[in-house]
Amino acid sequence: MESDMQPDQSPLSPGDEGPPDAPGIGEDTCRACHGTGSVEGQRCSVCNGTGKVLQGIGGG
Ligand SMILES: [Zn+2]
Repeated sequence: MESDMQPDQSPLSPGDEGPPDAPGIGEDTCRACHGTGSVEGQRCSVCNGTGKVLQGIGGG
């Protein structure tokens, strides 16, 4: 008889909570130009025409 019921243990290490693959810090698609690098025919001033922006830590 299995009277000793064990709690639901995941194969992952204990204490390792949170999303395994968070976006984190890095390049992100420019929201101003949606990654196109230009807005209304003009070079995007937000990403300087690169279509990507850098995400900083902490944020303001
Ligand atoms: Zn842009």
